[in-house]
Amino acid sequence: MLEGALKVIKKFEDEKYEAYIVGGFVRDYLLDMPAYDIDITTNCLPDEVERLFPNSFVQSAKYRTVTVEMDGYHYEVTTYRSDKKFKDHRHPETKVTKTLKQDVKRRDFTINSLCLDSDLNVIDYTGGLIDLRDKIIRTVGNPMKRLSEDALRVFRAFRFASRLDFTIENNTMNAIKLNTPLLKFISKERVRTELSKTFDEPYFKKVLPIMLDAGLFKVYPDMHEAAKVLNRNYYDIDLIEFATIASYIKGEVTEEVLLSRKEIKQITQTIEYIKIFENRSLSKRFLLDVSMECIDSALKIMKIFNNEIYTKEEIQAMIDELPIQSAKDLDINGFDIKKLFKLDDSPLIKKYLDMATDAVAGGYCPNKKAKITKFLKGNKLDE
Ligand code: ATP
Ligand code: MG
Repeated sequence: MLEGALKVIKKFEDEKYEAYIVGGFVRDYLLDMPAYDIDITTNCLPDEVERLFPNSFVQSAKYRTVTVEMDGYHYEVTTYRSDKKFKDHRHPETKVTKTLKQDVKRRDFTINSLCLDSDLNVIDYTGGLIDLRDKIIRTVGNPMKRLSEDALRVFRAFRFASRLDFTIENNTMNAIKLNTPLLKFISKERVRTELSKTFDEPYFKKVLPIMLDAGLFKVYPDMHEAAKVLNRNYYDIDLIEFATIASYIKGEVTEEVLLSRKEIKQITQTIEYIKIFENRSLSKRFLLDVSMECIDSALKIMKIFNNEIYTKEEIQAMIDELPIQSAKDLDINGFDIKKLFKLDDSPLIKKYLDMATDAVAGGYCPNKKAKITKFLKGNKLDE
């Protein structure tokens, strides 16, 4: 991937343009960490970038980013620019600039503003190399200004801290604390993407108390409660499990996290399971067709609440002992029942099926069609 990027840069240089690798790749390269994409910054304008590279397309006209292909890899090539007049504490007006130095100044943190030239020399206009060595996250320029113009940077600071085990520098941290109210301007999509990545980073456990202390969740009261609980008794969870904790405390599904319909269902089901476990009302019928994913989450969340009633092994053993694993394994179906009792599309069909399922799962009727028929006939329901 790096070789292709250097070819792209050399091509720009051959055409008398400047181009550098910039941002996340340089940071990860110098830290000897894996990187998955390379950003290139250049003084070449987007139309000309497109002309120079045959398989390229405009990724974002507003931000002047062109995706360029080289040796099967894709690179995001952006024209030098500066960002001004941020709208809604997030969206800047952008202006083309002449120098690399001006482009670097618009970047969020010093460790994200390093560049590599075509000979892999590091170019550092912001003191990023020292901060990388000292494991420090510091804004480029005045932290109050930089964090208030784009509030997403507050989330990004914690994401990088969680990934790299870096410390947020004091002035940057103070500005974060003063700017957390601006987080309400960040779209739910963005909050979700940033937080979800942060939860998955290796040092999140260490960073969570710092996030709480900084008041990061203050504008999200449901998540704030969940964060306090998780911080008291930490377990590795993902954002959906975190949203489940928030929803469980709130008594309804939280609207602070953007959720798909499927995820809402998963959260509701997990909370139902928690309640069943809490009431110790776990029945054989419940264990049929149970979602193991929701069981896992429910058990993990109960541990976080210091309320471990069942272990996964115990539940697995109960499931293994069931005569059938799913209602679908029943040796009788709706059609059989319809014929047996000469029913039309009556709700009784489902009731008989449920009765048969209970009887077979409960172990008091063998899973054989003839036996089930006999059992149902002996327990006839009124129409
Ligand atoms: P990751 O490894 O998560 O991709 P990254 O540093 O590459 O981290 P990107 O979101 O890919 O992050 O952004 C690429 C670069 O663009 C950053 O390194 C930084 O220089 C700049 N950048 C990204 N987002 C912002 C922002 N909100 N404000 C200022 N600069 C930003
Ligand atoms: Mg990146």
